[in-house]
Amino acid sequence: MSNSLDYWSLPLGEMRLRHMTETPSGIVIGLETEGLPQGCPVCRSKKVVGYGQLNLRIRDLPINNKAVMLDIRRRRLRCNHCGVTFNQPIAHISERHRATTRLVQKVWKSSLSMPFAHLAKVLGVDEKTIRNIFNNTYVAKLHQFQMRSYPHTHQAAIAVYPLTILRKPRLLWVHCQQNCLIEINANINAEDLSSSLQRFAPIATLYLPMELGTELRATCAGLTNGATIVETDQLAHHHPATYACLADLTTLVETRLAKRSFEVFCANALLDKTLHKTTRTGIDPQATNLRYQKANFGTDLTRLIAKLERELPASNTAG
Ligand SMILES: [Zn+2]
Repeated sequence: MSNSLDYWSLPLGEMRLRHMTETPSGIVIGLETEGLPQGCPVCRSKKVVGYGQLNLRIRDLPINNKAVMLDIRRRRLRCNHCGVTFNQPIAHISERHRATTRLVQKVWKSSLSMPFAHLAKVLGVDEKTIRNIFNNTYVAKLHQFQMRSYPHTHQAAIAVYPLTILRKPRLLWVHCQQNCLIEINANINAEDLSSSLQRFAPIATLYLPMELGTELRATCAGLTNGATIVETDQLAHHHPATYACLADLTTLVETRLAKRSFEVFCANALLDKTLHKTTRTGIDPQATNLRYQKANFGTDLTRLIAKLERELPASNTAG
């Protein structure tokens, strides 16, 4: 409760408070932009003048469990040099979602552990907005993630582990020595398997499940440049800690994540940076300032399981 009020001691930059109205259903806060922008966004000229006003309504974090709507009176401006008209820029708002960036961040973080319908109620935002914010953030973060290569897999043992998520068989890729999840394939096919394998440095051992079938197993073996191929079942003997983690994860997916989407699982399992295992490998040779080079081994399986157990209620509803 006090937390949300503390947040509110930080106003949006360069805004004047016009009014604050509390109703049984929520709080409306009237704000007005102040000052003039640095210059014209097109020609950079400073000769910018007022050109009327616009009202913009956006959602913000709730205060005392009440939904908050910001009613912003925003200046419209015109450049006297090139004639272009534009809206006064406002920091810390997402125009795409008609919400403050702090609300967008809150939605993303909370949606990993809370079903969308429940989160919509808690934040006083409709479920469709929650879904849009989740989807857009997910696509952007996944794209960043997929640009990565895996130099730290050099001479490693990598295991491919089959797991059914939302009634479809998927594949998890695990770095056995680091006990980290590094990749998830939504589908089982030659194309996805090879695109994953090609991002790895030459590995020493590849664990492949029997479920892949002879043809896909041969495709993978052909792409590893001579890695030893072992059956995933053997993980129980060779890497028992990793095997135990994967069994725990399977149970969690079948119980607490059963009704969440595949994307929610991937967001938790791959994109949550707080679960990543990193190590400093030296000083960045390209950097002019003192900066460390970091190796990211992916999601630490132990941390992931602890987080899911802590944050996901035993019976989860759809979302
Ligand atoms: Zn201009």
